[in-house]
Amino acid sequence: MTASPTGATRVAAVIGNPVRHSLSPTLHNAAFAAAGLDWVYVAFEPAPGSGAEAVAAMRAMDLGGLSVTMPFKDQVAAAVDRCSPAATAVGAVNCVGWDGAALVGENTDGEGFVRSLATDQGVSVAGARCVVVGAGGAARSVVVALAGAGAAGVKVLNRNRDRAAEAAALAGHVASVGEPPDVVGADLVVNATPLGMRPGDPLPIDPELLGPTHVVVDLVYHPPQTPLLAAARQAGAVAVNGLGMLVHQAGLAFTFWTGVEAPLDAMRAAVTHRRA
Ligand code: NAP
Repeated sequence: MTASPTGATRVAAVIGNPVRHSLSPTLHNAAFAAAGLDWVYVAFEPAPGSGAEAVAAMRAMDLGGLSVTMPFKDQVAAAVDRCSPAATAVGAVNCVGWDGAALVGENTDGEGFVRSLATDQGVSVAGARCVVVGAGGAARSVVVALAGAGAAGVKVLNRNRDRAAEAAALAGHVASVGEPPDVVGADLVVNATPLGMRPGDPLPIDPELLGPTHVVVDLVYHPPQTPLLAAARQAGAVAVNGLGMLVHQAGLAFTFWTGVEAPLDAMRAAVTHRRA
């Protein structure tokens, strides 16, 4: 972003409710500054249920890009002109951009997850036996991305088994509903529930099931160190929080909107500094 917005500044935004806690303005304004783009990124909190109106506003105001978080991911998927293959597979949109005059819904969460593991941790999910705990929007994105990246198997654990079955069905024969003991034989274990965000939350899995061969990823990034990650380290496992996925999914959105390679180091530094 230039020092102050001008009449020529492009505007991008996140919509969510609540949205005040969002790290997306920090991430994207750092990215625009590092890339030398005359763009600015702000946050809007529309009333729940007004996702379609937000898409109409993006069109009317010619916003350069839109990030979408809860509770608007499904509503926006239904309101854009078309969805990308990734957004269609998951049934949810986490960002919207332009293809000519058409508004396209995209979902970068799953690809951001896989890229963060590969780039930041040197972990390839190809051939990996995976357990995903949770069956909400983030879990579905991760399940679809793991299958797409060649995971050998994906077991979905969720307190609501019907939702676990729905999430697994998105990834075809590679994925199925699992049971807690499946953690023992897994290479990669992912927490895609909010457990760990609040003090006193129970662990999403029994830590006795973890050992030194596991890579444990907690999609929670606030706080950056969760009780699950502490338990994983205690068991000798590799422990990874959700900040890498957050940065990479935002980087993919940045490139979708601007056509410019995302300055990932600047984005990572911005959120690491904010959390320090
Ligand atoms: P969501 O759609 O609301 O789904 C939440 C899932 O967690 C559901 O499967 C739910 O189970 C389960 N769950 C919730 N509370 C639980 C509890 N007390 N015990 C057991 N299971 C519980 O949420 P989401 O959007 O997928 O987000 C999940 C987490 O991922 C959040 O912490 C979010 O911040 C994080 N996230 C991180 C990134 C990143 O970039 N790092 C991106 C997206 C999300 P039921 O189906 O039984 O209700």
